[in-house]
Order: sequence, then structure tokens, then C-alpha cells
Amino acid sequence: MLRALKMKEKRSPSQLEACWKEKDMISGRVSDAMVVIMRTNGCCWAKTGGCTMCGYRQASLTRVAADDLDKQIDEALSKYKGEPFVKIYTSGSFLDEDEIPPVIRERMFREFSGCERILFESRPEFVTPEVIRTLPKTATIALGLESSDPEVLKVSINKGFTQEDSRKAGLLIKEAGLKVRTYLLLKPPFLTESAAIDDTVRSAMFADGFSDEISINPLNVQRGTYAERLWRAGELRSPWLWSLTEVLRRLSGNVSARLMSSPSGGGTSRGVHNCGKCDSAVLDGIGRFSFSQDVKDLDAECGCIGSWQRYLESERILGTAADLDRRFGDDLALGSEKDGGIRH
Ligand SMILES: [Zn+2]
Repeated sequence: MLRALKMKEKRSPSQLEACWKEKDMISGRVSDAMVVIMRTNGCCWAKTGGCTMCGYRQASLTRVAADDLDKQIDEALSKYKGEPFVKIYTSGSFLDEDEIPPVIRERMFREFSGCERILFESRPEFVTPEVIRTLPKTATIALGLESSDPEVLKVSINKGFTQEDSRKAGLLIKEAGLKVRTYLLLKPPFLTESAAIDDTVRSAMFADGFSDEISINPLNVQRGTYAERLWRAGELRSPWLWSLTEVLRRLSGNVSARLMSSPSGGGTSRGVHNCGKCDSAVLDGIGRFSFSQDVKDLDAECGCIGSWQRYLESERILGTAADLDRRFGDDLALGSEKDGGIRH
């Protein structure tokens, strides 16, 4: 903890947390995008405890002034090469005035006014008609709905708002002619793998009513979170990649929003993973699907698909969301073919 605090102190409030280039989409075509991660005073919700899986409290600082934010914009501009899509993330909500003062927000919009698309994230309570009027027509607002199940939002995630709050915010944004990207969390704490798959499928159907894009984020165990405590105790396993492809398959053709997933920590024991041998091939397929929307891109083969199916079945029988391989190991006889060393 002390080490984490010391490391935090070393981070300069006037520098960006990170900045990189990647591909995304604008109106159905692949485009270059710049991603900017800003350092801010952090998520208002994280300060009161925050979400069970969110590491934003670790990422936030406490002394970021408007002047620092201006310098961070300067740094972003120095790296900008005219990408038509710019994505700005803070460690919380871009529309929270305590994180990003309106004057900084306005400068951002001015500097990137030549972009075809600008995306930022916000909790729904900051999405008001007054604020929406100040946003450019190129804006996409990312909403972290996570789940449409009130119990999951409250007990598993501790999200601090309801699915209805997200829906209202989404509809306000859509009415103003702006776009919505909704984030869903695949496998929050306490959900078995199969319950998690069902939950994300149901949540996507719910989100489809107010979303242009639905991005599925499989649980990635971040440092200093409640999810990490459960994970260390063997009470939680990040989802299988097969569960993610299952969700995408079930939704394909049943939602009008573009489906996408770009898992952080994919292929590691903290992130979404399979047996280790097939992870990068499956992740590549998910990446291709996110652009093509063609389920054929999700096709992959590996012996561990049988282990995944047995895992779902064993969890159902035992009625637990604990990591079965770690808690019960070979005693459970999860499969004759040992799945090539799941990386724990
Ligand atoms: Zn495999």
C-alpha cells in the first residue's frame, strides 16, 4: 500500500497517464483513432468506495489543477496526427465538472473540432439536457451500464446507479442526435460463468434500445479492488474467452447496435482467458468480429472447449462462482484432458 502511494506521488499531474493510436470505426468504416488517458482527481464514486472491479481509485490523483489539465491537452496535441477519431478517458467521468472543469472541456472540443468523432465516458448523473447542449454533434458518450440487472448492479458491482438511470441518460443523448457506446461487464463478482453469460446477453438486449455500440468488457482483476481480494482467495475466476464468444454469438443478429470487445488483460490469469494455447487466436477472432460483425470470425477450435463446458456444468451442480480449478483442482475431475495449464 505504501509503495502504491509512493508511486502515485511520483506521477506528475501535468502529464497524460497514457496516449496511443489504434483502429476503431466511424459510421461503419474502419478509421484511425487516438486514445488519450488523462490524469484527473478521479471518479466521484470511487472516492466513496467505488465499484467492486474498478481500479480507478488507484489511478486517480488528488492535486490536479486546471493548469495541469491544460498541459495534458498540450501533450495530447503534440502527439496528434490528424486521426479522425479521438477517445478521451479520465479515471472517472469526463462530464463531472470536479474532474474536468467546463473551460477545459470546451478547449478539448475546440482543439479537436476537426475530428469526425470524439468519445468520452461519463456516469449517467452528469448527462443532463443542459450539458448535452454544450457538446459537439460529433460526440459519442460512453455509458458504463455493466448490467441491466438491479441486483447485479447493487450487490455484485456496487455501481451506485440503476439501469434506468443509464437508459434515461442514453435516451437523452440519442434525442440530441449524439451517439452512445454502452459498456457491459461480463462476469461481475458472485456470478457463475453461465449466469454471467445470461446476464450480459440480457443486458445487451436492454442496452440496444439506446445504444449505437455495445462494448463487452470481460472482468479484468485490477489491483487494489474488492474483485482482487476475491480472486486471490480463489473465490472468483475471470471469464473464459469461450464465454465471451458465446455472448457475441447469441447476440449477433438480435441487436441493432454494433457489438465489440477489446478485452484488457486478455489471455492473462487476471483477464479473460482460456487454456493459454488458444487465447491469442480467440482474441484475434474477437478483434476481427468487432469490426466485421461476422460470427464466422469467432470460429476457433481447441480441446479446452470441452473443459469450459464441463466447468459450466460443474458450477451449476455446485452452485458456486468460486474458481473451481483452484478451489477443488483434480478432485473435481473437471476433465480428463488437463487443459494445458490455465495460467493462474
Ligand atoms: Zn484452449
